[in-house]
Amino acid sequence: MQFIETRGNDGSRVQSVSFSDAILNPSASFGGLYVPESIPDIGNAFLDRHLKSSYKVLALDFLKTFEIDIEEEILIKALERYERFDDPLNPVPLCKIENDCFVSELYHGPTRAFKDMALQPFGYILSRLAEQRGEEYLVMAATSGDTGPATLETFKNKKNVRVVCLYPKGGTSDVQELQMVTEDAPNLKVIGVKGNFDDTQSALKRLLSSDDFTSELRERGIKLTAANSVNFGRIIFQIIYHIHAYLELVRKDEIAMGERVYLVVPSGNFGNALGAYYAKKAGLPIEKILISSNINNILTDWIQTGVYDLTTRSLIRTESPAMDILKSSNIERILFDKFGEMRTKELMESLDRDGKFVLTRSELSMLREDFDASFMDDDSCYRVIGKYAKSGYMMDTHTATCMGAYEELREKRLKTVIYSTAEWTKFSPAVAKALGKEGVSGDIEALAWVSEYCNVKVPYSISELFLKPVIHHNVVEKESIKGEMLDFL
Ligand SMILES: *Cc1c(COP(=O)(O)O)cnc(C)c1O
Repeated sequence: MQFIETRGNDGSRVQSVSFSDAILNPSASFGGLYVPESIPDIGNAFLDRHLKSSYKVLALDFLKTFEIDIEEEILIKALERYERFDDPLNPVPLCKIENDCFVSELYHGPTRAFKDMALQPFGYILSRLAEQRGEEYLVMAATSGDTGPATLETFKNKKNVRVVCLYPKGGTSDVQELQMVTEDAPNLKVIGVKGNFDDTQSALKRLLSSDDFTSELRERGIKLTAANSVNFGRIIFQIIYHIHAYLELVRKDEIAMGERVYLVVPSGNFGNALGAYYAKKAGLPIEKILISSNINNILTDWIQTGVYDLTTRSLIRTESPAMDILKSSNIERILFDKFGEMRTKELMESLDRDGKFVLTRSELSMLREDFDASFMDDDSCYRVIGKYAKSGYMMDTHTATCMGAYEELREKRLKTVIYSTAEWTKFSPAVAKALGKEGVSGDIEALAWVSEYCNVKVPYSISELFLKPVIHHNVVEKESIKGEMLDFL
């Protein structure tokens, strides 16, 4: 399988690249992204064959259908990373919370959020590729919360890769910050930045585009790569769990093979939802993918009206911060898949230039064949969290946004899978508030209160964070980031 570019080819790059090239150098012509030339059709035979398979066996066979240029031994080792999840045999349990509503829990990995699903195996593959090529890579990440911990965790002590992770000091939860600053490995560096997430991200972008920084890296023999959600090396692992969730429904006798289901995906950068779309395209019987958002509901508007408009919006902080995103990177791959490279280039250039693009009526109806969307504000999320906690099911604020889409958007009475992208322990002050406890002073108090009130356990990987020594103390002004990084390198 070769990979091509969403905005077409500029004539100076090669026409198509291998999977390993696409993940090591993820930026494509005209600022576009890499996409596979085609999506393999898995068909019913594949689903039948994997009815009794473990997650790893299913995943390996699925990866093979893509015919990527990664040796089987490396793929197997990468998938062994799922053995570090709560249940090594089933890293993604499916839980019934109502008659026709099931939650696929994507958060049972080391950092308790769904980023581990892709970053765990991806980190292994990237490091092995770098080692095979005898190259040194630097992964730079700016995080508002979940990506940072998952990136550090996957590359910890890995060969040929170093990670610098920037986060806005005071802009993450206590748990998220501790997950970063207590990571102890010689190839990891965490820097707190004075400012908000936007400041941090733009400081990183300026650095990455500055010639003297890149030439300093070159002198040291270091190449830059990215592990953010546009890297196809992450997307490929985010197709598999949708297939797994479907097979779980069949295994539990909730549906017959071939029966259609709805998927509800809480979305920010649209990586999780893109994985669902590719699964549908590969032949998984999905009726529709329902996108849920918080009040930063630009995706709701886009899918309902065809208008994607940044000019009338500014980012609002919510209790589901991983979805506080206005420029959703992976919708570009949907545009490409449906409307081709010329039109994608035109629409994305209009977004960059005017802050806005508009689909035609027929384009909108093509989009709505696969998607519908809705959103929920924080108060409604508190109510949802409270309601399900009373009946014994704990959910976090991101997962809670799915219940609006579940209740409003389904046109048929089909079984529905909603995706839980974080454990409640990562957003415990909001969960405490939802349960009526006002004014907790921080995560440690909220965790203890919720755990006692609801009689639920806090996993050791969260509680131990408060006991671990802090390794990374640096908090710097934006201007000092470059110096800090060069010192580290
Ligand atoms: C990253 C993240 C999301 C959004 O996922 P996308 O693939 O960017 O749409 C949702 N919830 C949580 C908890 C996350 O960490």
